[in-house]
Amino acid sequence: MRNLSSRELRQLYLDFFRSKGHAVIPSASLIPENDPTVLFTTAGMHPLVPYLMGQKHPAGNRLTDVQKCVRTGDIDEVGDTSHCTFFEMLGNWSLGDYFKKESIAWSWEFLTDEKWLGIPKDKLSFTCFEGDADAPRDTISHDRWVEMGVDPSHIVYLPKKHNWWGPAGLTGPCGPDTEIFYDTGRPACGPDCKAGCDCGKYLEIWNNVWRACSIPTHSPESSSSSASSATILIRKATPR
Ligand SMILES: [Zn+2]
Repeated sequence: MRNLSSRELRQLYLDFFRSKGHAVIPSASLIPENDPTVLFTTAGMHPLVPYLMGQKHPAGNRLTDVQKCVRTGDIDEVGDTSHCTFFEMLGNWSLGDYFKKESIAWSWEFLTDEKWLGIPKDKLSFTCFEGDADAPRDTISHDRWVEMGVDPSHIVYLPKKHNWWGPAGLTGPCGPDTEIFYDTGRPACGPDCKAGCDCGKYLEIWNNVWRACSIPTHSPESSSSSASSATILIRKATPR
């Protein structure tokens, strides 16, 4: 596994997605423009909402960026090993272009290939949406991880509390996601400790969001018109 500065990691990420046909776009302002739904930009997805909702982006339908974010929703948790207030999110965005198949394959390649981050494969675990009235069980993501070579024992289905994104404010796109966790090497907190457990053993490093609906209409959309995204937080996983 490579030891990188945050500057090197940013550049590597942008280089990787540029090599997959993505246009590199600049970070948007921390103060959202023309958007009354939130006070600050809280996620990489947020400034791109109009484009994820169907507006054409001048740079094309494959975008990558490093977005500055401020988050206050989980401010009580700042100070542990994984929560920050100000941070940057690395993102790759498909505006009605590729979907789960490519998005998952590229997340895997970037994280595990020696040419990129080279994280040992057995250090990674995955969660997928278990399904409910709003969206079906995400077996497509599960099966794609298995195709990548992930052992099924490293994949967990979890409910909306864990595997659902958005909307950023009261309105906007939302949908199920699949998340990637890094095993920090801490001892398991119990027999049921696995990806998604909040004891600190498993650190979320990446989130692939599948757009399935929009609030307030909440109407499911076909996968061909959906957009997917991935973000990785720049932070160092330090075993105790
Ligand atoms: Zn645990």
